[in-house]
Amino acid sequence: MTGIEASAVTEIVAALVAAALYAVAYLSLVRLMRFPRNWVPFSRWEALATGLLAILAVAWVSLTPNGPAPLSGISLITSSAFIVAASGIIAAPALTFRPSNRVVEFLSRHADHAGLWLIGPALVGGLVVPNSKLQGMLTALVAIECSWFLRHHRAWRRRRLHPLDPSDLSVLENQSRGDIPAFAARQGIRELVWSEGVVSWRGCDRSTPPCPFNLYINRLGLNTAPCCREHLREIGHYAATCLREAGVVHWLEGGSLLGAVRGNGALLDWEDDVDISVLLQEDMTWSRLSAALAERAGRDGYYVDLFERHGLIALSLDPPRPRPFRWERNRFRGEIRVDIAMYRLAESYGEVVLERRSHKGDMPATEGGGYGVPKEIVLPTSTIGFAGGRIACPSDPHAYLRVLYGNFEEIEYTYIDTTAVESRHTAVNRGG
Ligand SMILES: [Zn+2]
Repeated sequence: MTGIEASAVTEIVAALVAAALYAVAYLSLVRLMRFPRNWVPFSRWEALATGLLAILAVAWVSLTPNGPAPLSGISLITSSAFIVAASGIIAAPALTFRPSNRVVEFLSRHADHAGLWLIGPALVGGLVVPNSKLQGMLTALVAIECSWFLRHHRAWRRRRLHPLDPSDLSVLENQSRGDIPAFAARQGIRELVWSEGVVSWRGCDRSTPPCPFNLYINRLGLNTAPCCREHLREIGHYAATCLREAGVVHWLEGGSLLGAVRGNGALLDWEDDVDISVLLQEDMTWSRLSAALAERAGRDGYYVDLFERHGLIALSLDPPRPRPFRWERNRFRGEIRVDIAMYRLAESYGEVVLERRSHKGDMPATEGGGYGVPKEIVLPTSTIGFAGGRIACPSDPHAYLRVLYGNFEEIEYTYIDTTAVESRHTAVNRGG
């Protein structure tokens, strides 16, 4: 091999290493996004590892000996800029599960194709800076974003039209102040479709990403999309069946219980997940329960996320892909999910309570630093009608809801966006 050939091979290998480093940092970032989308704090170690991987990719591209020294500075700036821009685009949908700033919300709204905006700058950067490692990294970035866009594009064409019922339509008309097309365009609601004066919803199914209905509900005050409502019913009963058959003490919780009690078994119009709680005991530990659920739900085509520190198992409708690509689901804007929260028996201020780690409604704090509800309100559990079937519930659901929400008969659910709540509240009081 001549000297020129040998240096060409070295350059190709160096470029491939740069591409691989970018890909690993990307997968670490999408995995990290499971925390914000499940409303739990970041794991510091995972955040640190993701940051270090990104720094390693930039360092490999720019700081190792590579051609004339001045190019290293340009490579450093260029590779850092692309990593920051791509990270913003990739993380935006998960970050907007909570209220966020306008830039993040904008990126989230364009999450299926925003990565393509980097192709032009990447071409220019790759041509202007003659650094094969930078070119390798940018090629990986562009390839990942194109693949993400193409998968979304194909899935979009599989969506089918669902009619909107009169309640959905009246809420939509109210929140859009009568001009649905302008509202849909302004808010980027691509799912709304008009045909001969009829408004329909281009709905999700198990082969597509879920609709971002969580955002539409919590920011815009709309009803749950018809397709997603159907999927929430399905996954809620699936989770309850798994728990029942595994012999786990469980009960319907939070807004799902509120809907079942107040609406005679209906889902709340603005339901954005199903809440079920379970009691961990000596013969049903976290390890046993999480392993059994992950195994069964994975086999049945659901996605399972475990948060042991927060006592939470999230079961989602999208089918798991092979590792590590399954983590890319954390780029979806929507989520059809059952949150399964863990409780334990504990003593607090001389009373036996069921205690959880994370805050829920107005549930009082316990002596042990968690949140708790008196045992006799929950055990022994009863059953209640819910979304077309029956499901376990606390022994005294009314008392349970009073612990969570106070006067639950009156409560108007609190949306994240107060304007959306107020305009919806006014319409309800007008009888709209
Ligand atoms: Zn949907």
